Amino acid sequence: MLHLPTVIGISLLLNLLICCFFLSVYCYKNQRCYLYFSVACGTFASAEVLACLRLFIDQPFITHYFADLFIIASPVSAIIGLQKVSSTSKSSTPYFTTLAISAILLLPLYDITGGQLLTSIIIASLFLHAASIVHKMNTNARLQQKILLYCFSIHSVIMFAQAVLIALPFLSASFNNFSQSLHVILINHLILATATAIILPFVLFADLEAKLQRLVNRDSLTSLLNRRGFFINGEKISRQVTSAHQDLSVVMIDIDFFKKVNDQYGHSTGDMAIKWIAQHILHNLTSNDIAARIGGEEFAILLPEQSLSQAQYTAQKICSAIRENTLKYKGHSLKLSVSAGVSCRDNQSHSIRALLELADKRLYVAKSQGRDQVVSAGPSITNSKSHFAASAR
Ligand code: GH3
Ligand code: MG
Ligand code: MG
Repeated sequence: MLHLPTVIGISLLLNLLICCFFLSVYCYKNQRCYLYFSVACGTFASAEVLACLRLFIDQPFITHYFADLFIIASPVSAIIGLQKVSSTSKSSTPYFTTLAISAILLLPLYDITGGQLLTSIIIASLFLHAASIVHKMNTNARLQQKILLYCFSIHSVIMFAQAVLIALPFLSASFNNFSQSLHVILINHLILATATAIILPFVLFADLEAKLQRLVNRDSLTSLLNRRGFFINGEKISRQVTSAHQDLSVVMIDIDFFKKVNDQYGHSTGDMAIKWIAQHILHNLTSNDIAARIGGEEFAILLPEQSLSQAQYTAQKICSAIRENTLKYKGHSLKLSVSAGVSCRDNQSHSIRALLELADKRLYVAKSQGRDQVVSAGPSITNSKSHFAASAR
């Protein structure tokens, strides 16, 4: 079995270090959740110190009452911190109330076994609640979220088991020697609390990184993917489609005479027009398709499982919808149109980049033929100049 003083020593050291780490992150970022996590680790370490003092001083009010309160305050702080992370607007008052009620209930019980029993039940319930918050957390750090969920859940079960082992001798005299099991539970409690403190920063930073990643791949004006996001997601879909030997088409769209819109109505109306076009594009796509704003007023669409004629039909629906509707903004009524080039993969080795280039060449043809139309035939992947090149991008 693990040596208890060693486990306490390591757990104390790690909790103090993580407490300081969270505190420094809080000072830097000024986000409350880090302060609560710091308090959670700090109170847990304090509870360990107070409990150890039982070996040296006979002051149960300090070594039992405050130790129990600190051990309850630790999950309370962690829960409030978790709520701040998941940005739920729930109030922290019920948790502070739980702490205050625990403080009152423990007053007459702290130096008898009933105090230990009550503390075990309270923290088991708090860990169970923490597990439910982690379960509902909307994070991209799925693996870390799962590990944290297991930590809280197992911790809750262990604390309920501790409560049962403490209660059993009261129920029957035949159940009286569980000191060995309680010893094992104590060690597991220390290990789990420390493991939770270690995993927590990984959940927070993996989640933050995933959020930043999403921002980096999105266009802030239209909320569509940006050029970078289009290629990252497109290559992913392309690999899936290739292994399933399915069709893959790309549509490139450019707004016609857009400079005139800016010149005539101003830049903000131009921005609104870009958003309006993006909405029309989205309305004509399915959840499998991806749309991106890859340039100022240029959009790219990836259509998995669509043949050239199906993709041409989709592009025509978008063109018609834009042509047939009127953008009303700031008292102006704007009639807009777009041109589109369509390409489809006839060779499984063609990359998204090559397909986009071909769609762009066909877009150039659509522009030169008078605009407001879809072109899906003509230049091949290797010849002729593209609209990209023509507009010197
Ligand atoms: P064409 O029919 O040949 O496409 O003509 P065009 O006037 O649309 O020409 P082009 O596609 O080259 O126009 C690009 C213009 O789009 C230039 C720039 O002023 C405008 N633009 C690019 N990004 C933005 C943006 O974010 N907001 C606004 N309002 N205008 C933008
Ligand atoms: Mg244009
Ligand atoms: Mg353009």
